[in-house]
Amino acid sequence: MKKRVLVSGGAGYIGSHVTVELIAAGYEVVVADNMSNCDMTCFEGVKKITGRDDIPFEKIDCCDPAAVDKLFSDYAIDAVIHFAAFKAVGESVAEPLKYYRNNLLSFLNILEAAKSHSGCNVLFSSSATVYGEAETLPVTESTPRMPATSPYGNTKQMSEDILRDVVFATAKYDGKDGQWPVKGIALRYFNPMGAHPSALIGELPRGVPNNLVPFITQTAIGKRECLSIFGNDYPTADGTCLRDYIDVVDLAKAHVAAVSRMVEGKMKEDYEIFNIGTGRPVSVYELVTAFEKVNGLKLNYKFAPRRPGDVVAIWADTSLANKELGWKAERTLEQTLASAWAWEKHLAENA
Ligand code: UDP
Repeated sequence: MKKRVLVSGGAGYIGSHVTVELIAAGYEVVVADNMSNCDMTCFEGVKKITGRDDIPFEKIDCCDPAAVDKLFSDYAIDAVIHFAAFKAVGESVAEPLKYYRNNLLSFLNILEAAKSHSGCNVLFSSSATVYGEAETLPVTESTPRMPATSPYGNTKQMSEDILRDVVFATAKYDGKDGQWPVKGIALRYFNPMGAHPSALIGELPRGVPNNLVPFITQTAIGKRECLSIFGNDYPTADGTCLRDYIDVVDLAKAHVAAVSRMVEGKMKEDYEIFNIGTGRPVSVYELVTAFEKVNGLKLNYKFAPRRPGDVVAIWADTSLANKELGWKAERTLEQTLASAWAWEKHLAENA
C-alpha cells in the first residue's frame, strides 16, 4: 500500500515542488491550504507535471483544530509536512501577533492531530534563520542557535522546540487513551530559489518581492525598475553578503528522503534536524552576474545601503544530510538561475 503524506501549505512555492517529487517517488499526497498567500496556479501546475488530476485538495485553515482533526480522520496519514505559515520577515516585525497566532497555532493543531492518530510522523519546515549571525561557518546542526531577530524567526525556533518536546513527551504512548508517539524531523532550509524545469510551478510573490531572486527576475522582465543590492561594504571578497542558494527541486527531494527515513523506520533519533543547502557560499553580486551571464541579459541594478537585520554570511555544512538522508544538492547555480528566469517568462506569457 502506498504511504500517504499530508502537505499543509501544499499549494505554495515549496509545497508544490514537494508534492511533485513525492508523487514521482510513489507517495499518495493530500494537499491542504487556506490559499491565504497563493492562488491555484501552482496546484494546477502540479497536476499537469504529474499527470494526476485526482490529487486530493482540502481548502482548510490549519488554525482550525476541528478542520485539522477531521483531515486526519478522513485520510490515513503516514506523515505530514508542515509548510502552512506566514513567511515575510518585515511583516512579522510589524505584526508579531499575526505571526505568532498563525504560525504557532497551526503547528500546535497539526501536532495534536498527529498524536491522536497512530503512526504519524511530522516534518517541519524550518530555516537557516535559526542560526542568526553564526560565529563559525559553515554551520552544522549543532552550531548554537542565536536569539531570533524577528518574530518570524522566533516562530521557527519555537516550532522546532515544540516539535522536540512533543516527540519526547509522546514516546511513552502506546495508543491507550487515543495517544500515539510522534516522530519528527526539522529541515533547516538555506535560501531556496528557482523553479521546476517545466516552468509550470515556481515562486509567486505577492506585491514587491522581499527575496533576492524574484526581485532579480521581476527586474529583468521589467516589472521592477532597478534591483538594489543591499550593502557592498561587508567584510566579504566583493563586499556583498554570502548565502547558500539551494535549488527548490533539490530542496523538494530532500523532503522525500526525510519522509522515507521516517515512514521506513530508519531514524536514528525520534527527533532529528538536518541542514538543507548546497554547502557553497555565493555572494549577492556573484548571483546577479551569474544570472546575467546564463540568461544573456543585462540587469539594471545599483548598490544601496545595508538592509537592517541581514547577516553578513551564512552557508551550510550539509554532511549530515548527505550521509544520513543519502541526499545531495545536484543542480548547478546556472541551471537554477535559468529555471527562475524561465518561470518569470512563463508568468509573463500567461498573464
Ligand atoms: N538582497 C538584495 N536586494 C534585494 C533582496 C535581497 O541585495 O532586493 C540581498 C539581501 O540583503 C541578502 C540576500 O540578498 O544579502 C538574500 O536575501 P533574501 O531576502 O533573498 O534572503 P535572506 O537570506 O534574507 O533570508
